[in-house]
Amino acid sequence: MSNNKPMPAPTEISAPFWEGLKAERLLIQQCNACQHWVFYPRRHCPSCLAHDLSWREVSGNAKLYSFTVTRIATLPDFADEMPQKLAVVELDEGVRINTNLVGLEEDEIRIGMRLQPVFAEVDDKGSRLLRFTGMDSDVDSLKRLPTLAEPEAESTESTPPARRIALDDEAALQSLVSEEFSAWSNQIVVDQALINAFAELSGDDYWIHTDPERARKESPFGGTIAHGALVQVLQSRLKVPLGFEITGFTNMVNYGSDRLRFPAPVSAGSRIHSRARVKSVERVKSGTQLTLELNIHVVGNERPSVINELVILYM
Ligand SMILES: [Zn+2]
Repeated sequence: MSNNKPMPAPTEISAPFWEGLKAERLLIQQCNACQHWVFYPRRHCPSCLAHDLSWREVSGNAKLYSFTVTRIATLPDFADEMPQKLAVVELDEGVRINTNLVGLEEDEIRIGMRLQPVFAEVDDKGSRLLRFTGMDSDVDSLKRLPTLAEPEAESTESTPPARRIALDDEAALQSLVSEEFSAWSNQIVVDQALINAFAELSGDDYWIHTDPERARKESPFGGTIAHGALVQVLQSRLKVPLGFEITGFTNMVNYGSDRLRFPAPVSAGSRIHSRARVKSVERVKSGTQLTLELNIHVVGNERPSVINELVILYM
C-alpha cells in the first residue's frame, strides 16, 4: 500500500513521540521541576522554563475539547478522508492535541465526550498517526490501513434479497426503469501501487499517473490521478446493491457502452464507490437489452468520476 500523503517528519526533539506511536504507545513530556505536562514536544517547560523534561507513557484517555467538520480536502491526497472531523482533544493530563476523529458519525460527536486513542497505521513502513475515537468504537478496525478488499459496513450484506424477475415478464422489466439511483456499493481505495500496475498493464505510463513528484509540482490536480479506464474497470470490485436479479435467460453478454465519460479526476489514494440505475429496457432482434447507468464517485464527491451507460444483452 502506498499513498502520497505527507508523512510525519520526526525531529531530534519529537522523535520519541513518533517512535512511541509506532509501538502503539502514547509518550508525552513531563517537567521534572514543576510536574507540568507538555505537548507538543519541546526542549524546555513552557510553565517554569526548566530544561528538565522526561518522556512518560500516558493512557491517551481524553475528552473532546473542540471540533470542526471539513468537506473539501486541503490537499487532493486527502480526498479519500472527506468529510474529516478535525478536533482538539484534551488528554486527562490536561494537555491539548490537534488530531482527527475516526469511527464516529457527525451526529455522534459531542463536546466533552470521552475519547480513546487510535494508533492509526498510515503507511507500510509502520508509521502511525495519533487519532481519537469514541469509547464504544472498535479501535482495532480503525488502526489498520484500508485495503482494497475491505468491505464497508454499508456493503451489500445488509440489503434485502434480490427481487427475481423473469426475462419474459415485460411489465416487471419495465418497472425496473428509474430516475433514482441504487444505494452505494462497497468502497475501495485507488492507491499509487494500483495505478502503477495499471500503467504497466496498459502501457499508459504518462507522468500525470505515475510520477508523484512531478505531478505534485506540475499537475493541475496537485498530485497523480488514476487512469479513467482504470477507474472504469474497477467497477467489477464494486458490488452495487441493485435489488433485482433477472432469470430465465440462456446467455448474457456485455454489449459495450452507450456513453462513457470521466467528468472528475480520481486522485491517488482516493476511496471510490458506485451506484447504478436501470435507464431503459428494450426488446431488440437478438434479445432483451438492458441499459444500466453506472456512476463511480470519489467518496464525498457530488460529481461522478465515471459515467458508464452499460448495455447488457440477455438472450
Ligand atoms: Zn516546569
